[in-house]
Amino acid sequence: QEETSVEEMPTYVVGTEPTFPPFEMTDDSGEIVGFDIDLIKAIGEDQGFNVEVQHVGFDALIPALSSGNIDIIASGMTITDEREKEVDFSEPYINAGLAVAVASDNDDISSMDDLQGKTAAVQLGSTGAAKANELKDAGVLSEVKEFGAVNVVMMELINGGVDVVINDLPVTESYMIQQDGQIKIINDQLTSESYGFAVRSGNEELLTMINNGLQNVEEDGTYDEIQAEYFS
Ligand code: GLN
Repeated sequence: QEETSVEEMPTYVVGTEPTFPPFEMTDDSGEIVGFDIDLIKAIGEDQGFNVEVQHVGFDALIPALSSGNIDIIASGMTITDEREKEVDFSEPYINAGLAVAVASDNDDISSMDDLQGKTAAVQLGSTGAAKANELKDAGVLSEVKEFGAVNVVMMELINGGVDVVINDLPVTESYMIQQDGQIKIINDQLTSESYGFAVRSGNEELLTMINNGLQNVEEDGTYDEIQAEYFS
């Protein structure tokens, strides 16, 4: 029995926006690492494909997928009906949700009832941005500032450029640790969301491989190992 060598395996380009720890981030050597990256690599290993990881702005991921510049989105992307119109999502691979955070020295805002007339920073194109704009349209928030990277969103909060951040809870928790407690969460259950890997609409072959691989790595303990590495 001959084994397929690594060279013979197809390579799929994975697009990700790497300011989203612990799902995707850049390590000291400049390499993109994280839960999503290890998981899609493990799925590739199980299914016989290689992955090449590419940095893409979060709001540019779906266009990059549709135009064929990338083959897979692995970027903490929430499965939504709106996105389902443009891409096909895998089975959910983890649950998360939006949280509202403020600077630690903010004594003014302690709940959602205190958001009247306040300003928010969010990641461009994210579900957090959609939520913030909803609150603005409802006359609650006075301004929503959208940035192309979550580290910039968090800096804006810490530097006092905005009052709140609306972003995925596990990621805001990562920044809280990174930023030595300069950020605090005031509402950790704004939404309940599921992340999926996305492929081009109609790319059933790749979608089936991802779903089969996901099931296999969930069953053989690989998923738990990756989870233990990034969520401890
Ligand atoms: N889960 C959120 C979304 O899909 C945020 C993702 C992100 O900023 N990487 O919109």
